[in-house]
Amino acid sequence: MNSIVVLKFGGTSVGTIERIKATAEKIIEQKNKGFLPVIVVSAMGSTTNELLGMANQISHNPKPREMDVLLSTGEQITIALLSMALSERGYDTISLTGAQCGIITSSSHQNARIDNIDTSRIINELKNDRIVIAAGFQGVTGNGDITTLGRGGSDTTAVALAASLKAKWCDIYTDVSGVYSADPRKVESATKIDYISYDEMLEMAKLGAGVLHPRAVELARAYSVNLRVRSSFSNEEGTVIGMKNNMEKAYIRGVSSQDDIVRVSVVGVPDEPGIAFKLFKVLSENHIRVDMIIQNLNHNLLNDISFTTTIESINKTKEIVENFVSKIGAEGIKINDSVSKISVIGTGIMGYGETASIFFKTLSENGINIQMISTSETRISCIIDNASSQLALKNLHKVFIENVS
Ligand code: ADP
Ligand code: ASP
Ligand code: MG
Repeated sequence: MNSIVVLKFGGTSVGTIERIKATAEKIIEQKNKGFLPVIVVSAMGSTTNELLGMANQISHNPKPREMDVLLSTGEQITIALLSMALSERGYDTISLTGAQCGIITSSSHQNARIDNIDTSRIINELKNDRIVIAAGFQGVTGNGDITTLGRGGSDTTAVALAASLKAKWCDIYTDVSGVYSADPRKVESATKIDYISYDEMLEMAKLGAGVLHPRAVELARAYSVNLRVRSSFSNEEGTVIGMKNNMEKAYIRGVSSQDDIVRVSVVGVPDEPGIAFKLFKVLSENHIRVDMIIQNLNHNLLNDISFTTTIESINKTKEIVENFVSKIGAEGIKINDSVSKISVIGTGIMGYGETASIFFKTLSENGINIQMISTSETRISCIIDNASSQLALKNLHKVFIENVS
């Protein structure tokens, strides 16, 4: 069999009928070069948001299983239309849902993980010289229930298929020309990165560089998938993501911000062993993703414990923490949803003693107060007021990227 290539087209790239026709031409280019294309697509434009909006008009707490039945329809529209566009151009194609692609997932609806892919159907279709058009973002449980992989999850479908089909490469076609040193829509002077390691890309994706789904990067690293991000609107080279670290060239690769987070503070917690354990145990049992944690000793042997979590889980988190507060006799809970996390990312960042001080100096020179700090070998992140997020992003980019290169 010829080499398989996986090409993924995101929402904007298939956002209109014209875009779907243009996508068909990109696919035909690869097919005519002798490759066997497996295509993964997202829902058209803002379809997923519109579906979420409709559900929200009916219920603020819809069953996750029903949400998955609803959200998975977005991608199904695209696969059918793209398949029709390719047929019109005389190519033999077949559209397949996640279940038809053999993508078996866990049952955690709206955030399911891929357990296994039975590629036999796809392989058969490729053997019959058909272009396979797969719906991204979705799978099916062992019981046959439709699941989705979390927002932006089509990238993960693409990389998972590339890994299981041993594809020659996996191209993620999107609405920017590659991975940039900061979101090019927020920082005009951001520069395109030609090459970035899996590790650095994973940090960037986790810290708000929405151009790739973090789990897609994790999978690409685990299975050494040749991953590229490129524009569906041009023929530019894009960004290659791979194994090799390139730290001697530029140790800071990017700056990013995350605005979809909230800060939760549990106020007046008794200062005794086991309290933090109890709080974070109950949060983890309820699958609440906790990020930064900070504890300050206040007065009268009472502590405040603060942490950040995602905005989506705030209702559930509030309920759990309120319960906790009344059980252990703490003073209360404070929620601040106007915060942002701002980060600089690069291999071995903390090996350079100055990085943290330059980071804090830049924020202070711009009158930005730091609410929480966390560091690792590959990043420094601070929680700040979200009204200052853009200012911080631009100035950190200036100091760490523009003034260095
Ligand atoms: P798609 O629908 O193709 O999956 P996404 O909206 O998920 O597209 O991802 C592309 C967007 O990611 C870009 O439009 C850009 O605004 C945003 N983005 C955030 N950070 C970065 C970054 N560091 N480099 C490139 N794009 C970024
Ligand atoms: N359509 C889904 C979303 O908007 C998945 C994706 O586009 O990757 O999140
Ligand atoms: Mg995306």
